[in-house]
Amino acid sequence: MAVSIRPRAAYSTHRGRDNGKHMTERFDLVVRAASAFVEGGFRAVEIGIRDGRIAGISDGQLDGDQYVAIAADEVLIPGIVDTHVHVNEPGRTEWEGFASATLAAAAGGVTTIIDMPLNSIPATTSTEALGVKRAVARVSVDTGFWGGAVPENLGSLRPLHDAGVFGFKAFLAPSGVDEFGHLDAEQLGRALDEIAALGSLLIVHAEDPGVLDAHADDGGADYHRFVESRPDEAETTAIQRVIDGVRRTGARAHILHLSSAAALPALRAARAEGLPITVETCPHYLTIAEEQIPDGATQFKCCPPIRDDANRDALWQALLDGDIDIVVTDHSPATVELKTRGGGDFQLAWGGIAGLQLGLAAVWTEASRRGIPLDRVLGWMSRGPADLVGLSHKGRIEVGADADLVAFAPDAWFTVHKEELLHKNPVSAYDGRELRGVVRRTWVRGEAPGAGKLLSR
Ligand SMILES: [Zn+2]
Repeated sequence: MAVSIRPRAAYSTHRGRDNGKHMTERFDLVVRAASAFVEGGFRAVEIGIRDGRIAGISDGQLDGDQYVAIAADEVLIPGIVDTHVHVNEPGRTEWEGFASATLAAAAGGVTTIIDMPLNSIPATTSTEALGVKRAVARVSVDTGFWGGAVPENLGSLRPLHDAGVFGFKAFLAPSGVDEFGHLDAEQLGRALDEIAALGSLLIVHAEDPGVLDAHADDGGADYHRFVESRPDEAETTAIQRVIDGVRRTGARAHILHLSSAAALPALRAARAEGLPITVETCPHYLTIAEEQIPDGATQFKCCPPIRDDANRDALWQALLDGDIDIVVTDHSPATVELKTRGGGDFQLAWGGIAGLQLGLAAVWTEASRRGIPLDRVLGWMSRGPADLVGLSHKGRIEVGADADLVAFAPDAWFTVHKEELLHKNPVSAYDGRELRGVVRRTWVRGEAPGAGKLLSR
């Protein structure tokens, strides 16, 4: 408990406040950490939480109604913000639902997710559909929603924007589900015009349908053939179209799940030009390489595909250089039946990797192997995604921010067993892997996960 007999030198990092006031300040909860990620570095602090927010950060002692000290082998980090999660409820709840997805999130140190507008039915392409999703969403972590920009709703995106979606997702090639159509070049232009007028954000699945058609494959279990059916050129061509559209319209655009490092030079040049384009990649592109994927192992199928080891090195370098902004999971589960449809045929199996619970550990395992410190990982996975969607009170430990916190043991290891993961279907591209970094405890706005809030832009 928090009654202190030591003289207190507590202060808040809130600037310009009277120190004397803080001598009597009392918090709902005080979390004491020998090492917490505060102000860009790790140091010993006490975090005072009141009404779900971080209300004080002190090098000395704070008074609280409750008091928790994290273990000596743990660091206190801001909760992970995952802006790329497919929950699929309602409509395909057997693939994944809000309850299972957000329990997996909390177990993986993710305290905020933004749900994709597909593969639920209805897709989130109208205010009515958003209402349906919000009505069924029982969540353990804070949850927001992307809208969808599809051929049918172009010209009428404003109501969804006003209803609080964080931006609009568009596909430039077939999405895989009939109810979520893709935009052709002309429609992409119109979407960007509309997004620019709204001041919203277009997030883009950037693969070019013409290039995909030209490389269409009749299937099979050979993983390399699958990669060749979705070549670098599919991404580079589509991304160039987005760049050209952003240059013409001034709209903000975000490239989802960048797989191909071949697109980096054009993106780098566009950003150097000052174009408002941001870029994400995903844990599976950073931690798995084509060379490791056995033929027929369709748990590794996703689109765009996991490419070779040299490509993976280039993605890491781009993160370090600031050419890729964030790392989010593209958690996209399906049933075991769909993931194994065709008995190992990569064209028939459903694509998508469920990584919500393992993203932090997977990325940290590989980052640490490469000598990259944890603070860089947190920039890509906590603060960066929060900033992408304007949640400036999440993804950081500072006074005024939500008390979304994780006790993380960065040097502890565990083995992934797909049956033990909390997302709905026991399929995992990480099954059997040894990962470094264990999430021991998660707080969402100062509480144990359970009562997640539905977020609006
Ligand atoms: Zn996705």
